[in-house]
Amino acid sequence: MKIQCDCGRFQAELAHAPKNSPGRLMCYCDDCQAFAEMIGRADVMDKWGGTEIVPAYPCDITILKGGELLCHSQVPRKRLHRFSTTCCNAPIANAMPGFPWVGLFHSVYSAADPDALGRFGKLRSRIMGRYAKGAPNFKISDKISMRDMLVVLPFIMKGKIFGKHKGSPFFEAGGATPIGRKRA
Ligand SMILES: [Zn+2]
Ligand SMILES: [Zn+2]
Repeated sequence: MKIQCDCGRFQAELAHAPKNSPGRLMCYCDDCQAFAEMIGRADVMDKWGGTEIVPAYPCDITILKGGELLCHSQVPRKRLHRFSTTCCNAPIANAMPGFPWVGLFHSVYSAADPDALGRFGKLRSRIMGRYAKGAPNFKISDKISMRDMLVVLPFIMKGKIFGKHKGSPFFEAGGATPIGRKRA
């Protein structure tokens, strides 16, 4: 499955999508909101401040082109790096060193193929509702409920067991330094 930035100069391939993913998740946390605001892309959120991400294993992602267009930032949670592009200011992913999880923004799927998200089925979980704006007319877990954990836990466990954090294209060899420039 292909993913890309809004303008297409950055492109990557997902080896086992939609199979190797916990599916479509919505996060309403203040950190995700701060990132979207910081890069001037509030438009990627829903009207209650939610950001949809569809995770993949780091080792399943191969950057096809435009890797040099990635830049990274940390707002403000310490170990989580958030990547966006310098070409079209598209949010791409968030990732943590050594963790078998790359949270890919919904827009990288739909920019490559408008029907891509549908291949992951329905939204599976909404978390961190305590930070949601306004009064959503659907249920969001206040933080992360047991039910939300069960959606992602098998994916994380399998990733840990099989070392799927290795070879992440978002970190330099060795795994701790995020690639690209730090976003000004
Ligand atoms: Zn672009
Ligand atoms: Zn969040």
